[in-house]
Amino acid sequence: MPTSNDMRKILDIQDKNIVFEDNCVEYTRFKGRKCKMIKGRLTYIPQECIKCQIPNEQYTVYANGTQISRITLPMSGMHPTYLVLKKQRFKCKNCGASFTAKTPVVKENCFISNYVKAQILDKSSTAQSIKDISVQTCVSSSTAQRMMNEQAKRYQSTDTWLPKHLSFDEFKYAKGTLAFEYIDAKEGKILDILPSRDSRTIKNHFISCYSLKSRSIVETITVDMNAGYVNLIPTLFPNAKIIIDRFHIVQLINRSLNRTRITIMNRLHTSDGEDMKKTVG
Ligand SMILES: [Zn+2]
Repeated sequence: MPTSNDMRKILDIQDKNIVFEDNCVEYTRFKGRKCKMIKGRLTYIPQECIKCQIPNEQYTVYANGTQISRITLPMSGMHPTYLVLKKQRFKCKNCGASFTAKTPVVKENCFISNYVKAQILDKSSTAQSIKDISVQTCVSSSTAQRMMNEQAKRYQSTDTWLPKHLSFDEFKYAKGTLAFEYIDAKEGKILDILPSRDSRTIKNHFISCYSLKSRSIVETITVDMNAGYVNLIPTLFPNAKIIIDRFHIVQLINRSLNRTRITIMNRLHTSDGEDMKKTVG
């Protein structure tokens, strides 16, 4: 089918089980934008049942209806591009299970093609905002963020090494939300950033990523003195001493001095300006 070959080349789809017919491209409006909907069909003869693994001999597994998915593809030309894929459904005579045809173009139960995911990741390595990336790849900002988080998790090894000296800190990001970061206090290297600084997020993170053995290695943790998570430290890091970071002590002294100064000044406040100069002096 010449149309299928050409379409697959244009869309960078290698799966030959996806076929396209003539006039398969339609222009329409979707989510308020002009876009291209490309109709395709996915079908093949399964080798076996994916549930009971019985070999598909003499139609043990047979075609049984279709399911249509709208899959976001990388933009082709000027407009957001979607693949309206009619997927073959199968049924197994042996176990009675039903399942849908699979394709490497998209993960099961997902509506964003793997190419779009790759594009998001590729763009995330450059200095671009999530908003820009989401506009260029025709997904929502939250989807772009989720894709990045998912990939980040995949590359995050569990039970990795923790340094002897850690430093906990927090910083503001979008809409003033506070994020949590922990740093190798000696090397100054950021080890990880968590989206929230609440005790539960921090506790879950350290318990799921590091064994008690590696947490026991930590000898000191430098924290901001107002941090609510200080109470968590003894349970998570049984051998760690808590150090209040010098910057925050100086900041506290400075604030306290100022507050005291203002209290005294106010106490000496009289209606006569000349009197005030004398008392303060
Ligand atoms: Zn079966």
